[in-house]
Amino acid sequence: MPSPQFQPHESALPHEYPADTLGMPADEMRRLGYAVVDLVVDRLCRRQQTPAIRTGSPSELISRLGGPVPMEPAPADESLTLLAHVALAHQQSGDHPRYFARVPGPSSFAAVLGEWLGTGFNTNVASWAGGSGPAAIELIVLDWLRQLLGLPDGTEGVLLSGGSAANLTAIAVARSELGPGVAYLTDQTHSTILRALRQLGFPKDHVHLLPSDAEYRLPIDALQRALESDCRAGRRPMLVIATAGTTNTGAVDPLPAIADLCAQEGLWFHIDGAYGAPAALTGRGRQFLSGLERADSLVLDPHKWLFQPYDVGCTLVSRPGALERAFSTNPEYLKDVSGAAPAGEVDFRNRSFELTRRSRALKLWLTFRTYGVHRIRQAIERGIELAELAERLLRSDPRTWELITPARIGIVTFAVRGAGRKQHETAAQALAASGVAAVTSTVLKGRGALRLCTINPLTTEDDLRATLARLAALARRE
Ligand SMILES: *Cc1c(COP(=O)(O)O)cnc(C)c1O
Repeated sequence: MPSPQFQPHESALPHEYPADTLGMPADEMRRLGYAVVDLVVDRLCRRQQTPAIRTGSPSELISRLGGPVPMEPAPADESLTLLAHVALAHQQSGDHPRYFARVPGPSSFAAVLGEWLGTGFNTNVASWAGGSGPAAIELIVLDWLRQLLGLPDGTEGVLLSGGSAANLTAIAVARSELGPGVAYLTDQTHSTILRALRQLGFPKDHVHLLPSDAEYRLPIDALQRALESDCRAGRRPMLVIATAGTTNTGAVDPLPAIADLCAQEGLWFHIDGAYGAPAALTGRGRQFLSGLERADSLVLDPHKWLFQPYDVGCTLVSRPGALERAFSTNPEYLKDVSGAAPAGEVDFRNRSFELTRRSRALKLWLTFRTYGVHRIRQAIERGIELAELAERLLRSDPRTWELITPARIGIVTFAVRGAGRKQHETAAQALAASGVAAVTSTVLKGRGALRLCTINPLTTEDDLRATLARLAALARRE
């Protein structure tokens, strides 16, 4: 409870600050705020009738949205309309039921509300002293995620902008704990991890890239041989980077075998579960993801498969204190807001490279509370089933389709029989331009392929059928 002297005088409240820092009246903020809610809800209700993706040209967009530097005020209603109907109408709708490209972002209403609330309250979760309430929410959410994914008690974490920032953070922790050494990954590891290794200054001969096996997984025997050959060459193995759900095919590396090897050799076991980790909330996903709980560090991306708007990624580290050992800073000018931290107080600025940081936890907390884990689990399960349904549709028409990789935690890849790389690329582009749906074209072991990622629980069987029918027609026309 706030102390009585800080209670605002009730009747004085509406008149005390009638405007914001730049003079917008409070009533105007209410009016515009409700209009923004309507714009957002209307878009979500109508998304089925709009294109899954729409890309404008730079000249058109800049001429409609730009102009001279605005020196004088313009009506906010008009500007909001321009933003909603021009700028925001030209983008991917990652929550569209026929958006199957890259990784969809099937965000939920409650998550949006949590995001807005934090922004409206101008939250900064750098230190406990400056943001104790939202810092507590972040600790709570991190522990809920830890429990749901089965990581050990004492695991610590931090929320970041996404998988790329979260992986970079985890790799920095690994190196801070174990010192320099070789990192092992495969040709299916996310490209941003290679970039992170480069940014962190891993020399070329400390990045050991293994060709993936026939199922696009990390081959454990090749890993073993790589460790031996590096040791013989005088290099020190340090870190194995496994992927739990590759972006390309949903493949999951052999986590238990890698965990055993890392334990035996004293290596850091990192898992990039940016895409796939939330599947572990379901029984069927768990079958593919056993071993996840043995990671030294694990990354997941709630803005992919936990129904959050952008952005929020998450790093979990099972060694207590490791995040702080890697990132702690206590300069003079922050002393007055920090001091010696009593038990349980966490300064999140000491857990990553961010100092000022907004709360990414409020929306997750509100999502878990509003829908409950049972509902979220069903929605994830539905995404897994939809890819299996797509696989059945593809298998039922073998004259048109060739299955490349079977449905794996929400991803299926396939090719149009007789079509090459270029035809798949063009078909994917033409499909997006038609407004019907968006899929990704990819290359798997040299073969051009198409890929569906089906994690939006609103997708129907008809959506899948319509998308495949249109794709087949487009690919044949080439
Ligand atoms: C999406 C993804 C990333 C990158 O995450 P961002 O949120 O886009 O930064 C990393 N790894 C995997 C496996 C991914 O699917």
